[in-house]
Amino acid sequence: MKPFVKLGRVFSIFIAVLFFIGVLANMPSAYASQAIFIKPTEGQLSSSFGSRNGNMHFGIDFAASTGTPVKAAAAGTVSRSYLSQSYGNAVFIRHTINGQVWETVYAHMSSRAVTEGQYVKAGQLIGKVGSTGDSTGSHLHFETHKGTWNIDKSNAVNPLDYMGTTVTTAAAAKPQSNPVDGSWGTVKVKFPAGYGVNVYATPGGAYKGRVLGGHAYKVYAKKGNWFNIGSRTWIKADYVTFTQDTGYVDYPAGYKVNVYRSPNGSFKERVNGQMYFKVYGYKNGFYDIGQSRWIPASHVVVIRH
Ligand SMILES: [Zn+2]
Repeated sequence: MKPFVKLGRVFSIFIAVLFFIGVLANMPSAYASQAIFIKPTEGQLSSSFGSRNGNMHFGIDFAASTGTPVKAAAAGTVSRSYLSQSYGNAVFIRHTINGQVWETVYAHMSSRAVTEGQYVKAGQLIGKVGSTGDSTGSHLHFETHKGTWNIDKSNAVNPLDYMGTTVTTAAAAKPQSNPVDGSWGTVKVKFPAGYGVNVYATPGGAYKGRVLGGHAYKVYAKKGNWFNIGSRTWIKADYVTFTQDTGYVDYPAGYKVNVYRSPNGSFKERVNGQMYFKVYGYKNGFYDIGQSRWIPASHVVVIRH
């Protein structure tokens, strides 16, 4: 009888650990090394970048129903807004990001909401999902070109390599769960896929389970040498690499935005539109961008990795 009871306990712990890993595996784990674009529409990825039935697919597809909003992946200027035989209703946007010119393409839309030469902010509505042009089924075809678009699409790169998973706007920021402690960012577990790292209920406290190598988690707080990765789960800093969240001033280049010494504090200096910086925290409607500089959240887009 006794060995059976023991086995049952071991088995239930095993199931509990499996369940816990399952819960964590459902947390966002996509990880872009250089997240500069946001996801331009809702919907699941339905086709990847690269070779497809012997042809090259120079973008990615998101399956979404007709009428779903399509948003600018980053701030920029609309370089084309037209009806193409192949692209259907298409919008092209040119961006200058950290000195590099990019052009993004949004195709097969049912309608367009912007005109050529117009400045758009990241996340601004530019059209709606459809199935116009050379398209089967309602979806958004999305391309990213490092440099400008050309007919051979020789500058096309995989959008997934440059996309953050989410964007935090001022309205979505939760000060309570994102304390001002320099922790705004993502940790990625250093060990190879298949290896586990212990996590704990408190910094140095009770063992809680394991997270897998290669996975990435949003950070909610930092305490000493420990990161909180949500759901009362703490991981040792030695076992992860930390990437600070980035943000940028959502104003056209050439415009400037005031920054302050503290939230609602005294004026410090002006920063340029389209400037990128690290984001350390949020308080009372302002983001902490380091060096005692606080910027009104309404002027900033934060890209969480
Ligand atoms: Zn496509």
